[in-house]
Amino acid sequence: MVYLDAFSYQEINYLNETITNMGKQIIFIQTEARVEVPKNSLQIQETFQDRLFSPQKIIESAMRLTDLASYQMILVSKDHLKLKSAVHLPISTVLFNENPHIQYNDIGNLPDLKLGNIQEIPELFKKTTGYFSEVLSTYLSQTRKWSESGYIFKFFAHSETTSLEIISGGRYFGPKHSLYESSQLSKRIGKSKNATSQDNLFYKIFLSIIKNINDVQNVDGITRVPSRPEKKDRLAPIVNLLSKKLGISDLSSNLSCKHNYPPHKNLKKEQRFINVKDQFSASLHNSLEHVVLIDDVFTTGATMLECAKELHNVGIKKVTGLVLGVNQFADEFMDRSILCEKCGGKLHLILNNKNYSAFYGCAEYQKHGCPTLSYGDGLNRMVTENLIDLVNTNEEF
Ligand SMILES: [Zn+2]
Repeated sequence: MVYLDAFSYQEINYLNETITNMGKQIIFIQTEARVEVPKNSLQIQETFQDRLFSPQKIIESAMRLTDLASYQMILVSKDHLKLKSAVHLPISTVLFNENPHIQYNDIGNLPDLKLGNIQEIPELFKKTTGYFSEVLSTYLSQTRKWSESGYIFKFFAHSETTSLEIISGGRYFGPKHSLYESSQLSKRIGKSKNATSQDNLFYKIFLSIIKNINDVQNVDGITRVPSRPEKKDRLAPIVNLLSKKLGISDLSSNLSCKHNYPPHKNLKKEQRFINVKDQFSASLHNSLEHVVLIDDVFTTGATMLECAKELHNVGIKKVTGLVLGVNQFADEFMDRSILCEKCGGKLHLILNNKNYSAFYGCAEYQKHGCPTLSYGDGLNRMVTENLIDLVNTNEEF
């Protein structure tokens, strides 16, 4: 399903031809400005309510036109706003935009993918892909990964004093998000707070993300957002591995956190900026050109921007931030949980302690011998058991 606004007639024709030739159906969504579309193509008119609230009606119309379930469809738009409310619905969402940078205000509601080349849209039918760090941290079994390729996105974060380019490998879903139980990356980030078992995987992901820096050859140092003084410096070992591999300075000891500032959890954006102000200190003997600053999750950017400010203050000319994932706003009204067939308890995504494999199990699976599910089977149940049901649709608005 393609929102027509902003697509050129050439792009529309290209998508129509390639996707139809693949034996797939394409539906064009007409918005306010009517756009000419190829003859005999399927079309849906966006209503006033769709525009104001949710594209649910559009998805339902598409389901009637095609006989497909929503999770078998991909919704494509050049306008991030059109996808914002759809990212929580059981449909794939793709933002198409040649600009490599996403708007800072939009990073908390990211679609399933952000593509910048029109040829990549039909490719989605041929291969399994997603954001780079999400794909790379998804293991279908002990050794078999989901895929090795994926997309990386960039954005600029700002505070009153600093602007920082951030490159992210994917999205992070917190425990309250409906996608938390399907995201191996999010579970792995959670696990890495107290364990080193994910270090090697995260090192590999960061190594690939670094290569997406435009002038990567000028990078001469790397550091991380430091942990509070009383906490374990969990990113330092990864910084060390990266500095050795890339032959650049390890600046972990040059940036430190001075105080045990209060946790950010439950703080609003503005409060977070106040909370971290002047909490870090940097020191440097010789001036450096370009330094990479890594962190696991980006939420508001308060800590990263504050660290970047300190690095600039000691003479570092340019700082680029790299993160594994950007925190996504939770959707309290969505529930994608699946239940244990034996005890009826909720199934959770569980990471194996000894290797990288992941599976679904209930809280009691060891005690009561409840069956476990493979990652693929669990994901499949999560998708097929939580769909938009046309029969139960409330036609009243
Ligand atoms: Zn059970």
